[in-house]
Amino acid sequence: HENILQEYFIGAIDQGTTSTRFIIFNGTGEPVAMHQLEFKQIYPESGWHEHDPYELISTVNECVEIATKKFVEMGHTVQDIKAIGITNQRETTLVWDRETGEPLHNAIAWPDTRVAHLVREYKAKKGDKDLSQICGLPLSTYPSAMKLVWLLEHVGKVKEAYDAGRLCFGTVDTWLVYNLNGGKEKNVYVTDSTNASRTMFMNLHTVKYDDELLGFFGLDRELLNLPKIVPSSCPDSYGTMAYGPLKGLKIAGVLGDQSAALVGQQGFTPGSAKNTYGTGCFLLYNVGEKPTISSHGLLATIAYDFGRARKPVYALEGSVAVAGSGVKFLMNNLGFIAHSDKVSELAATVDDNGGCVFVTAFSGLFAPYWIDDAKGTIFGITQFTQRGHIARATLEATCFQTKAILDAMELDSGHTLSNLAVDGGMCNSDICMQTQANIIGIPVDRPSMRETTALGAAIAAGFAVDIWSEFSELKAINQKDRTIFEPNTSPEESEKMFKKWERAVSMCRGWLD
Ligand code: ADP
Repeated sequence: HENILQEYFIGAIDQGTTSTRFIIFNGTGEPVAMHQLEFKQIYPESGWHEHDPYELISTVNECVEIATKKFVEMGHTVQDIKAIGITNQRETTLVWDRETGEPLHNAIAWPDTRVAHLVREYKAKKGDKDLSQICGLPLSTYPSAMKLVWLLEHVGKVKEAYDAGRLCFGTVDTWLVYNLNGGKEKNVYVTDSTNASRTMFMNLHTVKYDDELLGFFGLDRELLNLPKIVPSSCPDSYGTMAYGPLKGLKIAGVLGDQSAALVGQQGFTPGSAKNTYGTGCFLLYNVGEKPTISSHGLLATIAYDFGRARKPVYALEGSVAVAGSGVKFLMNNLGFIAHSDKVSELAATVDDNGGCVFVTAFSGLFAPYWIDDAKGTIFGITQFTQRGHIARATLEATCFQTKAILDAMELDSGHTLSNLAVDGGMCNSDICMQTQANIIGIPVDRPSMRETTALGAAIAAGFAVDIWSEFSELKAINQKDRTIFEPNTSPEESEKMFKKWERAVSMCRGWLD
């Protein structure tokens, strides 16, 4: 059976916050060929963060072309690729004109905080109403909803298209599927339920758009034609590639990136979790076939939705806005390192943080705090402070937020994790993963193949075209050569560090102009 699986291939497009990848996996979950391209981060003003919609597509096209070329050069044939899966950065908001297919603004990326003032206004309007009971998300700068409201209020072209009933709104999955199918002619206009659950327009219980939510944001359902919500694994909803070396190939799976990582780590049983350290850091905890609405600052979301006879599976999520982007900040803004992978070396030049705590609240603070008016703040600087201390404090910031999220998750679920499966770019830092194990007091478990997000998209597509039909068939995938980081400090020491972090958090709020 394994020999047959090695002859089946699935392509996975991973359109992340900082880079785009295309990876071709075989049926045993091994990456065979891949290409990756970084793209431009646009910061027009403090707190604003955009992407060029055309670049999101052009990097996908180029990665598909180059990885497929490598695949063919290895002696494989394109016909052996059975389907394509897509995984994408979530919440990032795009708008385009249905008649021309052209974007009407840059994509507003998920960490963008331009809507902080609007959020205040809408919080006042909301009064005691708890929207998270309907959609699982608290009102904040993070979901797509306020980003779309901002576009309607500030960009004339967007409002005109909306008034004329021509406006298309989409998260990155919708934009990619629409364009890969050839755009306006085919007009394939869909979203998967994991992505839809991040907009704040979807009712988490019914997995349908909700009139009360749309009404709250002042949106008219007749004018705003929303993409159809379909399951994450689906043979007939996402169309086919309209051009390029994979022309005619079916797109059969779509998952938001954090959902894809959970699937790639095989977090299929309630009680399993994973933590992905990419641009931001996201812990997803599988709660089963009914949503758990958090009372401790976590989000409720769809984990994955494999369709057919399967019910959607839900997760509790702890989202941290800044993780790897903190490392990039040390590189691009402070010039401390020449490349992200040098941060461990710099952190290793000192024994500890030297008394520094860095609250990396560049986009306010997300879970479990939700402080929109927090700003990045470094505490504890003296003449003693070196770059290494600040590098350590940067890595620790994500580890402390993960600890706060795990504490909240325990309160919401009544369950304690016994180990933490990790992935994402920043998990390559051994020093960061050891620190994480020390701060949470449980082992951290890192796979050797770290492309779990792309693997998750491949799994969603593979299920749709019957390469696999049961989760148990995936058991052997990516289990070899995992690294386990065991905690090696005393719980008292970790507790002391965490107390200091909490004090720093309490002092970094109240900075909205
Ligand atoms: P995304 O999908 O959000 O674009 P990735 O999972 O590709 O993110 O991870 C990229 C992030 O990981 C970058 O922000 C980068 O700074 C960080 N990163 C990459 N390699 C390392 C490393 N060796 N040590 C620490 N951080 C790293």
